[in-house]
Amino acid sequence: MIVIREKSAFLIYPNSFLNSLLMCGIVGYTGPREAYPIVINGLKRLEYRGYDSTGVALLNGGLKVYKKKGRVADLENFIIGENLHSNIGIGHTRWATHGEPNDRNAHPHTSASGKLAMIHNGIIENYAQIKKELLNKGYHFTSDTDTEVLLNFIEDIKNNNECNLEEAVRVALKRITGAYCILLIDEDTPDTIIAARKGSPLVIGVGKGEHFLGSDATPMLEYTKEVVYVNDYELAIVKPDELILKNLGNEKITPFVTKLDMELAAIEKGGYDHFMLKEIFEQPSTIYDCLRGRLDAAAGQIKMSGVDNNIEAFKNASRIIIVACGTSWHAGLVAEYVIEELCRIPVEVEYASEFRYRNPIINKGDIILAISQSGETADTLVAIENAKKQGAIIFGIVNVVGSSIARMSDGGAYTHAGPEIGVASTKAFTGQLAVLMMMALQIGKVRGTITNKLFSQLLFELDAVPEKVEALLKNADQLKMIAEKYKDATDALFLGRGYNFPIALEGALKLKEISYIHAEGYPAAEMKHGPIALVTEILPVVFVATKDSYHEKIISNMQEIKARRGKVIAIITEGDEVTPTLADDVFFVPPAHEIMAPLLSCVPLQLLSYYMGVAKGVDVDKPRNLAKSVTVE
Ligand code: GLU
Repeated sequence: MIVIREKSAFLIYPNSFLNSLLMCGIVGYTGPREAYPIVINGLKRLEYRGYDSTGVALLNGGLKVYKKKGRVADLENFIIGENLHSNIGIGHTRWATHGEPNDRNAHPHTSASGKLAMIHNGIIENYAQIKKELLNKGYHFTSDTDTEVLLNFIEDIKNNNECNLEEAVRVALKRITGAYCILLIDEDTPDTIIAARKGSPLVIGVGKGEHFLGSDATPMLEYTKEVVYVNDYELAIVKPDELILKNLGNEKITPFVTKLDMELAAIEKGGYDHFMLKEIFEQPSTIYDCLRGRLDAAAGQIKMSGVDNNIEAFKNASRIIIVACGTSWHAGLVAEYVIEELCRIPVEVEYASEFRYRNPIINKGDIILAISQSGETADTLVAIENAKKQGAIIFGIVNVVGSSIARMSDGGAYTHAGPEIGVASTKAFTGQLAVLMMMALQIGKVRGTITNKLFSQLLFELDAVPEKVEALLKNADQLKMIAEKYKDATDALFLGRGYNFPIALEGALKLKEISYIHAEGYPAAEMKHGPIALVTEILPVVFVATKDSYHEKIISNMQEIKARRGKVIAIITEGDEVTPTLADDVFFVPPAHEIMAPLLSCVPLQLLSYYMGVAKGVDVDKPRNLAKSVTVE
């Protein structure tokens, strides 16, 4: 039996056990169609998760495995002319953890008998012990991966216990520690994919007489809108017309089918050179989508059901602890300033990777805000799991509907930015900021810490953000010219104060990611305590200096840089006549209340990094060594 469940706000799965998650993308198909094109196109959509190597396994008169170091396109070229006919297939795009990225270590791996093929997303932590046992039994390994060990372990159990593959997988999974999403195919059961997950995501698309599998729903978008999000410690037996879900105790579980509301167009480039550029330009509409139905400036109202449902907790919160990584952590820093100002609740912003490994003090009345684009960030997940055990209320701010953080949270808000494919986060960041602004306003109102006048003013200010972003994007070419001018810089400094300080950090991070130029973000006044020593005639110093209560101060900092002949690029407010006389290059953004300024000032910095990356010939959608969802701890 299958139960259809409509998309709801955040679903709570209180008994979810999550360990660490790893990256890589997996795809599978079983049904009447040709599997190869479905798998290969799915892999292209999942390349954001890793691109060290690519591989597919098909059943075509026996098991056929094709794999290669490099991107999906490299594999496609490599296998031109092969007979790829098969109605079942699995495919993998790797982000290497065990063994360097090369052909040998690429997935799928093949078992000793040559009959089983497996792909894996995750890390088997006790693989060394199991490998030793298998080596003693005479097994040989052709790769350095933990994955090949698990596969042969499964086959060994299958042979020794004379059981079927499903049973062998179940037995093996009880012995291993670590994280996995695995897909297996077997020559002896040529229509069946066995899948299981713990800690790494798995979505199964339900079609008519066919099933699709993926790390997320994008590989199956054009085929079905009905998906099942598999939970940890669940095993799926997937045939064209049957989906059986079981727990590791071999008891059947009813699969819940969720309706996807994602369109294919949302994951295509739509005429832009790169996804990153498309996503930057989408921001007027993604911010609008985020506000829509929640913010009603004319009526003086904000309605966010996730916050409403937990309003007593927020009203009485003694502290808010924000846990996040990377760009999301920067959104958290902005929120710290805004929430403390508008709600008068003490806020701490923590790197999830640090928070999870120390012994944090969580008190009754503490609320944890977990911010993550993918909702799968490994460190954030474990951090909130730990905090939850200590009694904290978990509130998730994520972009990907149905993701692990969304499911583990007691309440939450989606950013509604749509699929973000570019590895460097842009529209998801402004979505996070928009959500956090609305939350701060709503909570401040309920707590009585914001005046009616300011509340109303900020509602209108927030409402106007999409239009203002649209206006500033019209001048994107100016940033292209600035980027051309500074593209050969080896270092850059980003400075900001107050609400714009986190934006300076974000600007520096973007530049590093996308152009490989070393960059540092600093509070503008703090630069006198060290970074000023870096200033030379060739160092570009980017000032995020929109009009705010600290404006005079940041102008003094700019003078200090100019006195040392640094090159100043300034992001300033329209109408500012003083700064252009000081700076070497300026970019104007529309006027806004200082609390809303980050939503505007981050956009030119995204564009600056983008154009610098392009000018330097970097593959901006897939910069080296990175992956989009950092599901490895
Ligand atoms: N641990 C496996 C490997 O290194 C899988 C990594 C991944 O998730 O891509 O091959």
